[in-house]
Amino acid sequence: FPSRLPTVGTTIFAVMSQLAAEHGAVNLGQGFPDFACDPALVDAVTRAMQAGHNQYPPMPGVPQLRAAVAAKTEALHGRAYDADSEITVTAGATQAILTAILACVQPGDEVIVLEPCYDSYVPNIELAGGVVVRVPLTPGSFRPDFARIAAALTPRTRLLILNTPHNPSASVWSAAEMRQLEELLAPTNVLLISDEVYEHMVFDGQEHHSAARFPGLAERAFVVSSFGKTFHVTGWKVATVAAPAPLTAEFRKVHQFNVFTVNTPMQHGLAEYLRDSAHYLGLADFYQAKRDLFRAGLSGTRLKLLPSSGSYFQCVDYSAVSDLPEHAFCEWLIREIGVAGIPVSAFYGDGFEQRVIRLCFAKQDDTLRTALERLQRL
Ligand code: PMP
Ligand code: GLN
Repeated sequence: FPSRLPTVGTTIFAVMSQLAAEHGAVNLGQGFPDFACDPALVDAVTRAMQAGHNQYPPMPGVPQLRAAVAAKTEALHGRAYDADSEITVTAGATQAILTAILACVQPGDEVIVLEPCYDSYVPNIELAGGVVVRVPLTPGSFRPDFARIAAALTPRTRLLILNTPHNPSASVWSAAEMRQLEELLAPTNVLLISDEVYEHMVFDGQEHHSAARFPGLAERAFVVSSFGKTFHVTGWKVATVAAPAPLTAEFRKVHQFNVFTVNTPMQHGLAEYLRDSAHYLGLADFYQAKRDLFRAGLSGTRLKLLPSSGSYFQCVDYSAVSDLPEHAFCEWLIREIGVAGIPVSAFYGDGFEQRVIRLCFAKQDDTLRTALERLQRL
């Protein structure tokens, strides 16, 4: 039968993880921690199971978790989302983004993605029958180019997808850039998905500027958070979407026939764990120390370090080391050096080449040291 996604293969993350495993390479490719989450969080989930929270929860999510997310968002960003009508619990950010796209994109609608972008966005838009409009972030700095975004807006533009802190570039949108986007979209009906899964990993005293902080953005936005990143539990696949009630109503129409609900005991455990803000406010310092260890170890190599302002990624320019294209360089790095990374070209529709790869530092310090010993041969 005809494929719905004829050009799509296996995701680059699965490909590089498999190759890393085959060659015994240190896997700094796929973004996930190689250390345990807080045992207190596991205890909270265990207690929830033992207390009998094992049947379907309400369709939008366990009320205590939605209330905890609403309270956290108000405390951090000053916008009071209504837990009943404006917060929905999803099976990871991946499902949140697909569901939001299916809820608002009609066949033929244009959707702007800022490239490089996370690899699920484009296939998701295609599944909805949307037309993908790719606008590059400025090569080198990865800053938004507002002239190009403005030029891409048409009467058919239905949605724009924003991601800050940004995967793969580790750049973070400033308040001024968020305001510029707010002004640009003010005269339009364009909706926004703000993918903020790395919201608590922003370094060097900078702040995360959520779309929730900017009324002109928040009124049109699905703001996506993910507990997988924040609490070191990427395998749990629990995330949330905050959006104004009319957008949430449309979102839930799709959500109820997509997954219907998300596993119950994790939601109860997360609700309890979220009560202590230290559980997420300490994350920036935790990852900044890892970033600094990693950058210090790479500073004597011929890899050129790009800025890493947020997320748990560090991009490096390897053009002083090799002429290979990015995918081939990643394969070589796994085979010959024993370290896996991700080609940044995989985040561009046309495979744009900059001789830059992404390395993930969400690893135990010992893992990072082993990787550094190997990379220092470069
Ligand atoms: N968006 C971005 C930018 C991501 O990096 C990821 C995870 N790699 C996701 C969404 C998906 O998150 P989840 O695991 O919660 O589905
Ligand atoms: N988000 C993770 C990354 O960017 C991987 C998620 C996945 O494997 N799909 O590395």
